[in-house]
Amino acid sequence: MILQLKRIFERVGDGIDICGEIPLEELRELGGCASFVTPVSFRGRAVNRAGMVSLDYTAGVTVRHLCDRCLDEFDREYSFDFSHILTRSEAPVGDDDVYCEGGALDMNELAISDLLVEFPTKVVCSEDCKGLCPVCGCNLNHGTCSCSERE
Ligand SMILES: [Zn+2]
Ligand SMILES: [Zn+2]
Repeated sequence: MILQLKRIFERVGDGIDICGEIPLEELRELGGCASFVTPVSFRGRAVNRAGMVSLDYTAGVTVRHLCDRCLDEFDREYSFDFSHILTRSEAPVGDDDVYCEGGALDMNELAISDLLVEFPTKVVCSEDCKGLCPVCGCNLNHGTCSCSERE
């Protein structure tokens, strides 16, 4: 989704509601650490306050992870809030500033790069995941083995 924000940049007080979805096909091409189960949905608002355009939005998605402890696959739903200052200057001032060439913003690209930073690199399926038996490797969430009895 490409947002044309020229009008917002030029009129103080003007704003635009943003709402969209990034389809799975587009997300799959990204690969990386995250495997997306649902489309990414985002919703927010860009507004020109006293000449400064800010963007606040929430992005949500469900991601399939591999548990770091028991190696089971599981899905987790995420929702994050993001804030940016949008600028038409090629030399953004702050880290969260987003350069909008010609007043246009690629919302999909922004939402994906924002989300990828937020995903944890190590995840467990549940806080009390029992993990794998260090001896036989069986998944102790699904059953018990006899290794501990032999001690
Ligand atoms: Zn686990
Ligand atoms: Zn065992």
